[in-house]
Amino acid sequence: MTTERHVAVSDLPVVDGHCHPLLPDPLELGAGDFLNFFTEAREDTMAGHVQHTRLLQRAIRDLGGRLGVQADIDRILERRRQVGVEHACRTLTESRVAALLVDTGYPPEAMSIESMRRILPCPVHEVFRIETCAQSILVRNLPYEEFLSVFREQLHAAATHVVAFKSIVAYRSGLAIRAWSADQASHAYRTVVARVQGGGTTRLTEQPLLDTLVAITLEVCRERERPLQFHSGFGDADVDLLQSNPLLLRALLEDPRWASVRIVALHMSYPYFREAAYLASVWPQFYVDLSLALPFLGAGAMLPLVEMISLAPSTKLLYGSDLRGLPELFALSADWGRATLADALAWLVDHGDLSGDGAREVGRRILADNAIELYRL
Ligand SMILES: [Zn+2]
Repeated sequence: MTTERHVAVSDLPVVDGHCHPLLPDPLELGAGDFLNFFTEAREDTMAGHVQHTRLLQRAIRDLGGRLGVQADIDRILERRRQVGVEHACRTLTESRVAALLVDTGYPPEAMSIESMRRILPCPVHEVFRIETCAQSILVRNLPYEEFLSVFREQLHAAATHVVAFKSIVAYRSGLAIRAWSADQASHAYRTVVARVQGGGTTRLTEQPLLDTLVAITLEVCRERERPLQFHSGFGDADVDLLQSNPLLLRALLEDPRWASVRIVALHMSYPYFREAAYLASVWPQFYVDLSLALPFLGAGAMLPLVEMISLAPSTKLLYGSDLRGLPELFALSADWGRATLADALAWLVDHGDLSGDGAREVGRRILADNAIELYRL
């Protein structure tokens, strides 16, 4: 697809609706750690291939350009250490990153949100991951009912300062969330507690328990008027992609108890972006975040974007990066996201589906305004 026109969105700010914390020290990393930011493969398993991805090549080209060094990982890392962390943080201002929504549930070793707020030049909002919370309570070996009430209390306490909740149930038992009896859920809970007490993993995979935690979260979201983000579509090798199709959320979307809870499917639900756009066009409470797919696909995200903008209301799509670790990555993703969105919008203008002004308005919504409204920033 070629476009003749140009839609100006490069001056518009972005709200990064889904990303993760910085490294404890964003300057201290080796080339191997650096490569791991650019792949969803298991750590250090793709070293011979990552350098041959468009994502990594684009990143080192643009980082090298910003730092005035060759597009070479060692030179980039050396120069970053020389110019310091303030220089890295300033890239967010240069790339008009107006706010970050940070999922603090991953990775376990990371800079605190308080420190991020101190060093970054934009507001940093917290998104609260429910499974991480539940796993931290498991080790207390509480009776089932008490476990649930502590979980609920912690969600309510978080609701006073977080802008949204997030679930990674897609990574565990899948998005086909359903109701379970108290007996089934408490049986699953006792199995988990026995495993943890025996020195086993706290990683929750038991569907009756996970679905029950999602139901409690939906109650809290309804009461406290907070959106709920779901991991959806591709991710690291831990995900069973078939279980992360957003169409599996239909029962939840149809349940009148949760009709007022705004649901955000993360990562464009890629490769299920058509399914996600369809859901966004039919269920008023369903939104689609574009993170991960935007930076990973780069210019190639134009085709999904054209389809999604063509089907879904432009109030339902939200920019995000899903990047982490280094401040500059949030800035690079913002630049790439705006460029690809401009391409998609120009194609729609070329083909008569949008006016130039209308395209810029759609761009402004997707890049920032939808997030400001949805998360009440
Ligand atoms: Zn993420």
